[in-house]
Amino acid sequence: MPEEKIRVLVADDEESIRGTLSLLLGEEGYDVTAVPSAEEALERLGRDPFPLVITDIRMGGMSGIDLLKEARRLRPETEVIIITSYASLETAVLALRSGAYDYLIKPFEELELVVAAVARALEKSRLVREKTALIEALARKNDELQQVNRILAENANRDGLTGLHNHRYFQEAFARELDLALRHGRVFSLLFADVDNFKRYNDAHGHQAGDTVLKTIADLFRGSARGTDIVARYGGEEFVLLLPETDRAQAEILAERTRGIIAGHPFPHRQITVSIGISTFPGDGKLGGDLIRVADRALYRAKEEGRNIVR
Ligand code: GH3
Ligand code: MG
Ligand code: MG
Repeated sequence: MPEEKIRVLVADDEESIRGTLSLLLGEEGYDVTAVPSAEEALERLGRDPFPLVITDIRMGGMSGIDLLKEARRLRPETEVIIITSYASLETAVLALRSGAYDYLIKPFEELELVVAAVARALEKSRLVREKTALIEALARKNDELQQVNRILAENANRDGLTGLHNHRYFQEAFARELDLALRHGRVFSLLFADVDNFKRYNDAHGHQAGDTVLKTIADLFRGSARGTDIVARYGGEEFVLLLPETDRAQAEILAERTRGIIAGHPFPHRQITVSIGISTFPGDGKLGGDLIRVADRALYRAKEEGRNIVR
């Protein structure tokens, strides 16, 4: 495919100037569009991008300066070269202040100078476009990075297998809840749940079947908890529920209900049960370590007394 020609828009009410520039720049390999008025130039510019506009300052109707301003507003990557005569050189200064890249004085004396000015202006336009594209690419990358960071931050708090909160998140939430409960004199409870004889299930049916069971148990816990409860995988086949504003009696009801739901769930191969230990703030202690120890001991008793039990 031949390389696409660079497009240049010329606006001048003098036919000879349009002819000269079309011929000269055409020979240089540019694709030149020449129009006799600023209005027409603007109309062309609205339809298609031109990296360079060369415009006469004085034309009947809209002036080259107005075209310059409008062009820069419409297409910031477009560079503008003004054509002026010696008589109106001071307007060239005004044009440069208004954002023109350069000016040419007519009648043109050295055509190489015109060609050189055009090449410089086009190079500037190319650099501006390149910079804009880089900035856009950078902004896109930045968005992607933020998105990834959000996902990473979210994943850092989640357990990969079950999608529940993980141990780390539980510890943070637990510390927060302890603090709140202490300050506001509130109660809360902890449930520690451990799958019964899970090693046997894994040994008999494989680790993958075991994983599926853990996911289902996670769903069942999540389903019976309230939105404000924290349900986390404490580790392995152990789960912990942090129940804000829940006393011992309410915690027992939830634990007993969930134990029953799990025991009644049609897991593949055989029945799955959990044992659950409860501790409640402040009755069982005011320190995090104490509360975890009490719940852990209660869980141990539930195991000792036969499993599929709440203690
Ligand atoms: P108990 O009733 O006394 O809790 O008996 P148990 O077999 O459940 O307890 P034990 O601590 O001996 O074994 C726990 C088992 O849990 C061992 C391991 O195979 C299984 N387990 C822990 N984490 C995972 C996991 O992520 N996936 C699967 N499939 N199994 C796991
Ligand atoms: Mg265990
Ligand atoms: Mg177990």
